Amino acid sequence: MNSYTYEELIKFFKSVLKKRNLKYTIQREIILKILYDNNKHYTPEDLYIHIKQEHPKLNIGIATIYRTLNLLEESNIITSISFGQSGKKYEIAIKPHHDHLICDICGKIIEFEDEKIEKRQDEIAKKYDFLIKSHILQLHGICKECRKKIKKEK
Ligand SMILES: [Zn+2]
Ligand SMILES: [Zn+2]
Repeated sequence: MNSYTYEELIKFFKSVLKKRNLKYTIQREIILKILYDNNKHYTPEDLYIHIKQEHPKLNIGIATIYRTLNLLEESNIITSISFGQSGKKYEIAIKPHHDHLICDICGKIIEFEDEKIEKRQDEIAKKYDFLIKSHILQLHGICKECRKKIKKEK
């Protein structure tokens, strides 16, 4: 999904909806537009708040957001990071490849790209004669701010 323009993405999304006999609605478009325009990872609740602020008159429920996000993810237009019990955060899939550092306390996500890690993966695949199609690297831990807070509380 690397080189899609927004128009192409919308076209693709429309074809996905059509195949499933679902309507293309302004609500669905707004969800996609926010994810496309913002270089961020959103929970469904974050999106709901964002939409309510930007479009106070729009009639949209959290259920629509959940359903649309599932649909977008199934179509590989967006991807998600799972936080176990506390749910998922979504981002647009057409961003250049990157990996994630995830704070398990506040949920902050730091993106990084490391040439050596990418290269090493290719070498490992070569060693095992394996064809890599994709990979997900997530490093879990505690961010700087949360560690500071923990220190203060002690
Ligand atoms: Zn944190
Ligand atoms: Zn990301």
